[in-house]
Amino acid sequence: MLSVQDLYVSFKTFGGEVQALRGVSFDLFKGETLAIVGESGCGKSVTANTIMGLLPHPAGRIKNGSVIFKGRDLTKLDKAGMRKVQGVDISMIFQDPMTALNPTLQVGEQLTEGLRTHRKVSKSEARKKAVELLEVVGIPNPEERLKQYPHQFSGGMRQRIVIAIALICEPELLIADEPTTALDVTIQAQILELFEEIQERTGVSIILITHDLGVVAKIADRIAVMYAGKIIEIGEKREVFYGPQHPYTRGLLASVPRLDLKEEELQPIEGTPPDLFSPPVGCPFTARCPFAMEVCDKVHPQTTELSVTHAVDCWLQDDRAKNVFG
Ligand code: SF4
Ligand code: MG
Repeated sequence: MLSVQDLYVSFKTFGGEVQALRGVSFDLFKGETLAIVGESGCGKSVTANTIMGLLPHPAGRIKNGSVIFKGRDLTKLDKAGMRKVQGVDISMIFQDPMTALNPTLQVGEQLTEGLRTHRKVSKSEARKKAVELLEVVGIPNPEERLKQYPHQFSGGMRQRIVIAIALICEPELLIADEPTTALDVTIQAQILELFEEIQERTGVSIILITHDLGVVAKIADRIAVMYAGKIIEIGEKREVFYGPQHPYTRGLLASVPRLDLKEEELQPIEGTPPDLFSPPVGCPFTARCPFAMEVCDKVHPQTTELSVTHAVDCWLQDDRAKNVFG
């Protein structure tokens, strides 16, 4: 349903041009959850914002590539065209529910606004739908709560309202950027269950942006690992979790706190990602990689397909490594 092809995005800053995305490609299928993971600054939020047409103007620019959604290239749409897609075909949920909600408007108004603008339904129909959706997302006494303001709800309840707003026009794609990061652990688990329920009920596809591998383990079908503006490994959850092939993915998984390990046994990945003002020509992980070879620094690895679903950008997996320097 969604095909992102060779996306390059850069940002103009006072310090120069940051190359935030450097050739990102992936497909998303109907009814699946793709988790995009990586350290902060790796490009995962930029990927989401680019799909959603939310790059800051004029600093952010798509330099190359396409975002094909149901046969149309979203990068070619103008503002008005994109507004018809936002919140209707594709909805986005952000980390902080408080900034997503308008503190001065009753929750009911915020819920029905999208429906009234995009679907032209009557006030009473919109209200009925809003009540239904609050029930779906697990808010008790929906009739009464429609009249309340965001501050009258707890953090977890606010995120449920944000999810209800995102769903009201029945989008086919939901993009959630760190949707549970601001919530405590118990509420986090409830919200993740809610995503699963909603997906079962509606068949919506979900792109989940997160740095939390526990969240990924719980609800992802496939995982894309990003590093320095590229997807360096992608595969089904089982392939990436139990057979990670990129040293960075292995490092990420090794750095996850496990209950059966003592603290001193954790292995955070040492070093920092490269500067994206002048990205390296070779593998961006070279400086941190315990397996780096001479070729790594000089030539970027091509994508090696390990299975129909599992692909990795690493010279270790590529027989051509031997041939590059003879
Ligand atoms: Fe390490 Fe080289 Fe693979 Fe990059 S290409 S991850 S530096 S082995
Ligand atoms: Mg982010």
